[in-house]
Amino acid sequence: MSDTLAPGSVIGILGGGQLGRMLSVAASRLGLRCHIYEPGANPPAGHVAETVTTAAWDDEAALRAFAASVDVITYEFENIPTATLDLLESLRPVRPNRRALAVSQDRLTEKDFLTGLGLRTAPYRDVPDMAALEAALAEIGAPAILKTRRLGYDGKGQARIMEPAQAEGALAEMGGAEAILEGFVHFTHEVSVIAARGATGEVACFDPGENVHEAGILRTTTVPARLAPGQHMDAILLAGKILNALDYVGVMGVELFVTPQGLVVNEIAPRVHNSGHWTQAGCTVDQFEQHIRAVAGWPLGNGQRYADVVMENLIGDDVDKVPALSKTADVQIHLYGKGAPRPGRKMGHVNRITRG
Ligand code: AMP
Repeated sequence: MSDTLAPGSVIGILGGGQLGRMLSVAASRLGLRCHIYEPGANPPAGHVAETVTTAAWDDEAALRAFAASVDVITYEFENIPTATLDLLESLRPVRPNRRALAVSQDRLTEKDFLTGLGLRTAPYRDVPDMAALEAALAEIGAPAILKTRRLGYDGKGQARIMEPAQAEGALAEMGGAEAILEGFVHFTHEVSVIAARGATGEVACFDPGENVHEAGILRTTTVPARLAPGQHMDAILLAGKILNALDYVGVMGVELFVTPQGLVVNEIAPRVHNSGHWTQAGCTVDQFEQHIRAVAGWPLGNGQRYADVVMENLIGDDVDKVPALSKTADVQIHLYGKGAPRPGRKMGHVNRITRG
């Protein structure tokens, strides 16, 4: 791949959900074309991309044809099977790189990586079995949260342990999947930093956003976040440290707990992030364009925030509010083109400018 992809070049995106859809729109604004690879039929990203491949992650012929048709490969979700990546990486550059995926796919590897960088996380222990869980609970104490090491998202694959008697039931809830125990972090609020690193190593961070979750799913992001100036700087510096350590290229979401003792890293997502959707209304260059710029080898854009914004997800039946929202002229509406709403399904989001 040449250093900078010229307009007309093709970006391959693994995954066809709403993040792929918004990446594809951003790419097309830059004159780039997108090819989506997604096992599910009728993916939201497919409505706005030039090409869609509908094939399984282990369909070698389809993966080869996909790779042959693109200049660079990126992804909108982190749980891509290892064998799929092995093959794709041998054919085309994959950005962000393999290590970023490996680190974020496994909560244990992720926590070891973060603490290895000197960053604070919740106290954690690997708990391969009941004896290890009992020992971990004795050390960390309750309340604590048992989480599957892999494939958890939006609060799935988690069980709270309020007292040791609940340990056995919590382990059963993991359904035999490998798990870690995390001590409960008594945070005042949650924030995230959406950070970008370009192909030549420059780093740019969007302002931290303050996140409210309901039932493990992001409900709102508000900028500016409530952070003291020192915490604001800490959040940005630690995000930069993570990106540099991974030699990362692209946009990453770094989720943080704010505690009286400082910032605690909850998790990292090696992709554009739901808590960065506010950038569409608050910045000259939003997270989607920033990611495309990075993976295409372009210089990063200016992500400076010029407005206060509240982003609200439209989850399940919330989408019924759209006719009323559409009458409010200053609300930016994003719908993902999904079928029927289901509880917990992200159907769209809105951005409201609260101070311009
Ligand atoms: P996760 O999927 O790990 O991001 O967890 C989803 C949500 O659960 C987080 O955004 C927090 O609100 C909460 N949570 C996760 N881990 C912890 C923890 N160790 N202590 C307190 N709350 C947590």
